[in-house]
Amino acid sequence: MNKDMYKKILIVEDIKSISNFIRRQIDAKLHFEAKCAYSFADTRKILESEDDFFVALLDLNLPDAPDGEVVDFVLAKKIPSIILTATFDEGIRDNILEKNVVDYVVKSGLHSLVHVIYLVQRIYRNQFIKVLIVDDSRSFRNYYQSLLVTHKFNVVLADDGQKALEVLKDNPDIKLVITDYNMPVMDGFELVTNIRNQYDKNEIAIIGVSAQESGILSAKFLKSGANDFLTKPFEKEEFYARVTQNIEMLEFIDELRDAAIRDPLTKLYNRRYYFDAGEKLFQKAKKNNIPMTIAMMDIDFFKKINDTYGHDGGDAVLCSISNLLKENVGEHILARFGGEEFCVLVYDTDQETALALFEDIRKKIEQNEIQHKDVTIKITMSIGVCNQVMDSLDEMINRSDEMLYHAKEDGRNQVQSS
Ligand code: GH3
Ligand code: MG
Ligand code: MG
Repeated sequence: MNKDMYKKILIVEDIKSISNFIRRQIDAKLHFEAKCAYSFADTRKILESEDDFFVALLDLNLPDAPDGEVVDFVLAKKIPSIILTATFDEGIRDNILEKNVVDYVVKSGLHSLVHVIYLVQRIYRNQFIKVLIVDDSRSFRNYYQSLLVTHKFNVVLADDGQKALEVLKDNPDIKLVITDYNMPVMDGFELVTNIRNQYDKNEIAIIGVSAQESGILSAKFLKSGANDFLTKPFEKEEFYARVTQNIEMLEFIDELRDAAIRDPLTKLYNRRYYFDAGEKLFQKAKKNNIPMTIAMMDIDFFKKINDTYGHDGGDAVLCSISNLLKENVGEHILARFGGEEFCVLVYDTDQETALALFEDIRKKIEQNEIQHKDVTIKITMSIGVCNQVMDSLDEMINRSDEMLYHAKEDGRNQVQSS
């Protein structure tokens, strides 16, 4: 699918201040291309020539379409729509929810408009999230699926617990499982228990669904390891709220995990990650006689860069060099050790190939031109390499540090190894 297709948003709203606010927020936060229509007539005209919008924001009351006529029109073009309404009552709500809209927002001040941006962001991210629905009833499966697809989720289906486990095995990227209780072959509890033997609550979220009359089922779902539950029948809003809450919890935990192992400026791994992952590889290398090489890299005369171009110039250089390293180091471990120092661990690669890689990186850095504001900055890098597996990871790092020292002493911009 053409990726650009997913970057256009249609805003239909006759009040210019609201329309402008939303457009500016979308510009700033999402980098989507926004098209604004101020009437039903405008909307028709725009959609005549282009209908490849990722999402549409639709005002329910337009001067030339006072009763939400624009909603049916846009939905007929299969564009996911978020409804903006100035007034709200249960009749309006039922009417809106009957149509297959993403959601509705009551316009009541800035925070409600900020919520619209959040919703757009949410459904944009949902495209990359896979949800497994497990239910033996085809009509329920279809119903959940249509709700999830409206919010842009990727959906996979299974009609009993046993099949669900097979689907999970084939789709390791599933993030959320929504499961019924009563199913042939393997029921919902057994499925939850099985999933929990392999994945914890922070890896895959599970929502158990049970019928209202079955009382303790929801408690039993939670006890066997589900993150949450839904009682049938439920309102659409509740379904979406539960799904979103659970997905956001997983995303939040992922972000925390990531923050703990990455350097905030360059987004490279930090020391802590390097030592954790490096120690595991070191043990494997030692045990199985696998070659392993460590390189310590330090930018030459970096203090001068800061003195000449300011701290933000220095930061720009660090980010540019980090990107260059990322592109060239590939699958090997790369970390920012601190300041202008980087460390690479090359695993299962012979000495010559590893050394050639570092020499190649040194040359690329020497030739690299970094644009910062209106100046071009050039730097060089000294690299110390330890290319024999020693008694410990620390010893290898110390050796590469010594080699780095020699590289600096002998004139910088060079690779030295031992
Ligand atoms: P050498 O060739 O001997 O390595 O000299 P050098 O100037 O590169 O080394 P030195 O260790 O004397 O200076 C490193 C400087 O890096 C000092 C410090 O202020 C700067 N620095 C450390 N972290 C950061 C950072 O995150 N951003 C910026 N802009 N500068 C940083
Ligand atoms: Mg330096
Ligand atoms: Mg230094």
